[in-house]
Amino acid sequence: MFSEELENYSWDEITRRIYAKTPDDAARALAKEHIDIDDFMALISPAASANIEEMAVRSRYYTQQRFGKTISMYIPLYITNSCTNFCVYCGFNHNNPIRRIILNDEEIVEECKAIRRLGPFENLLIVTGENPRDAGVDYLENALRLARPYFSNLTIEVMPLKSEDYYRLTQSGLNGVVCFQETYHRERYKVYHPKGMKSNFEWRLNGFDRMGQAGVHKIGMGVLIGLEEWRTDVTFMAMHLQYLRKKYWKTRYSVNFPRMRPSEGHFQPNVVMSDRELAQTIFAFRLFDHDADISISTRENPHFRDHIATLGATSLSAGSRTEPGGYYTHPQALEQFAVSDERTPAEVEQAIKSLGYEVVWKDWDRIFD
Ligand code: SF4
Repeated sequence: MFSEELENYSWDEITRRIYAKTPDDAARALAKEHIDIDDFMALISPAASANIEEMAVRSRYYTQQRFGKTISMYIPLYITNSCTNFCVYCGFNHNNPIRRIILNDEEIVEECKAIRRLGPFENLLIVTGENPRDAGVDYLENALRLARPYFSNLTIEVMPLKSEDYYRLTQSGLNGVVCFQETYHRERYKVYHPKGMKSNFEWRLNGFDRMGQAGVHKIGMGVLIGLEEWRTDVTFMAMHLQYLRKKYWKTRYSVNFPRMRPSEGHFQPNVVMSDRELAQTIFAFRLFDHDADISISTRENPHFRDHIATLGATSLSAGSRTEPGGYYTHPQALEQFAVSDERTPAEVEQAIKSLGYEVVWKDWDRIFD
């Protein structure tokens, strides 16, 4: 399990090594075809800031080599905001006195139909809070079954599950699982997740192993930028990805770097990552792993998304609503976070096409399951 691997590293030591990198270290890393973790640290360090143009060119090259000039489209569907956790940065935190919604069968189907009216989406990301009693595995399995006729590729972003539950869901149409570790800082993790199921750092961390053991086709991972020193967090994520690739080599992987957005809890980010730093991180990740999908959500603004679409990103969401039932049933419900890119799917498609890229709505068929 990755928690044992993580024991070998000290957060402070990794941070010290990143900030000790020099422009020469960055230049050496850039001269390599395949970079290791040490090179990765050099490329996300402040010392590599001057190399960002060259990193962008290399990132674009590897991305086009592996994915062509394509951008895959997906859309999230929040089916419940009920949550038993107390994440201090989240609008769905159990303490927040908001109206809690758990969509019923009819509402889930109406949401699916409403999404299909928005655009020809085939990749659906089903999102929930963490409420095992009222929206547990049975509820998720039923939601997959209801969504299946409308989409060819179903991914979930839900509470970490047991391996046998992941396996069970793959038998009901599940193709991918996204989970955010939020931060790899074991001690500080407890500050952001003080109680509830999510306060168990190891259970969350080792959830990725359980997905791999269950044979989930695609695993998505990410850290929440705004909690801890982001350079250290993304370095641990790169190590984690490398570990998973070796162990679960049949699995596909995607990465995501969500920057914290305003939410009902009014939590202010502890650290801020600029657009330039986010771009540098994406380029470094692409140089580190040529094959990972890099996904950019509507948290990011249109200007940034359009640029990064040609430099390293491979999938974008569009038209997203981050409240349960937000497409049809409850358009006024409280959103989990405010989106930055409010363009319609058709507008995003047009923008991508104008860059000379092909928009891919469908890249999976249930016949492959
Ligand atoms: S981040 Fe997820 S688990 Fe935490 S309060 Fe929000 S919905 Fe619940």
